[in-house]
Amino acid sequence: MVLIVDDKPENIYSLEKLLKLHGFPVDSAASGEEALAKVLKNAYALIILDVQMPVMDGFEVAEAISGYSKARDIPIIFLSAISTEKKYITKGYSSGGVDYVTKPVDQEILLLKVKTFYKLYEQKKDLHDMQTILKAEIEYRKKAEAALNNTISEFKSTLESLPQIAFTATQKGNLEFVNRRWLDYAISEKEFPPNHPTEKPLAERWKLGIKNGNPFDFETRILNRNTGLYRFFLLRATPVYEAEVITKWVATLTDIEERKQDEKKKDEFISIASHELKTPLTSIKAYIQLLERIIYENSSQDVMQKYIERAQKQIEKLNMLVTDLLDISKIESGKLEYNKSVFNFNEMVNHAIDIIQQTNKDYQITKLNSTNVEVFGDESRIEQVVLNYLTNAIKYSPVNKNISVELIEDGGTIQCRVTDSGIGIPAEKQKKVFEKYYRAEEASNRFQGLGIGLYICAEIIDGHNGYCGVESEEGKGSTFYFTLPIKN
Ligand code: ADP
Repeated sequence: MVLIVDDKPENIYSLEKLLKLHGFPVDSAASGEEALAKVLKNAYALIILDVQMPVMDGFEVAEAISGYSKARDIPIIFLSAISTEKKYITKGYSSGGVDYVTKPVDQEILLLKVKTFYKLYEQKKDLHDMQTILKAEIEYRKKAEAALNNTISEFKSTLESLPQIAFTATQKGNLEFVNRRWLDYAISEKEFPPNHPTEKPLAERWKLGIKNGNPFDFETRILNRNTGLYRFFLLRATPVYEAEVITKWVATLTDIEERKQDEKKKDEFISIASHELKTPLTSIKAYIQLLERIIYENSSQDVMQKYIERAQKQIEKLNMLVTDLLDISKIESGKLEYNKSVFNFNEMVNHAIDIIQQTNKDYQITKLNSTNVEVFGDESRIEQVVLNYLTNAIKYSPVNKNISVELIEDGGTIQCRVTDSGIGIPAEKQKKVFEKYYRAEEASNRFQGLGIGLYICAEIIDGHNGYCGVESEEGKGSTFYFTLPIKN
């Protein structure tokens, strides 16, 4: 809009008419003061300012306008009778365009100037608008970038905090980010860790994996740089999509070495167990065949009795093996339950000794002392522990056949100690004998067994708030003990 400032209404009228005729929106003010008020309120593209006005002349008005930040850039065309006054134009009015038209006004020249200034104003306004938009755009992008950086650094710290090795790769599968654990296995952040020579190189397996764009996983053995040993890892990868297009891959490598070892132990265990079960079965089969022949030949009762006893011994062995196997599976599924009641500890131990003594007449089991304490627990399960200790004492003591059982009362606990003078256990292996499937090499070469008996004992005693232990010297013998709280 153009603002015409003149104290003479007829001048305003003629100018207004001219400008409106040429399509310019127009406003007017009859004095400098009114002009200033309007300039503050409205936005003008151009001011046509009469110089000779009473009270406040045109130059004073221009001077005042130059003080308003909002208006100082509006171009001004001065209308004056005397052209030399131009030099009085205030210095402060610097940036806006200023021009000068002498009176009487040549309408064509004025129109030309108005058009030029108006065009300039519009271009400037467009430029300004554009600048504002650009500024907003830059601001928006900066914020988006900051937010993105934030998300990325959050994502990276999440990957860092994982217990696994974690990494991201580009859509084509090239490594992008790796967490710290990566360097325990890889030489650099740019290379995959070296894997076992029997496998295809890991980088190759990775590229094959991402080929069809689906999540995938595979097991691999990679070399730990600190220990120089290969460990089993499970690599698991997932594509990340943006607008249905894969933009990157996120993957983890989870250490499954222990699980693998367990699986191996379990496989070995199954093979030993099958063998252990097969041996007594073969014997039983043989004794039954012998019995059949004896009956057929009408042989003596004594011979029959002997073979029946032997077959029974093997059946008992089988029974114990199967019971142990069932116990293991009960422990693993958390279903080993106890029928607890108060019982006499001494009687329970005597009963166990009787059972073992009867079937092992060549051994001398000596009970060193007695007690009168009572224990609250599952009597048959605790007797199972004593039976197991005694059976082991006999099994691992093939030469010296003296075994002793001692009961020690100490404070609120009762300890049962079974001592043999057998093969003993090397110091470094003593801690492991209560672990599942563990068998000391010395024992496993010469004696049959599954390595689960002591593990079951430890579970039972643990379920009664007690603890198990062993004292032993290789070649001299062992004392296996367990301790339980006394019922007061
Ligand atoms: P198993 O006797 O079937 O091997 P156990 O769990 O009963 O399984 O025993 C685990 C291991 O502890 C045995 O293999 C053996 O090495 C050792 N061990 C147990 N009892 C004795 C003992 N009295 N003397 C020497 N070694 C023993």
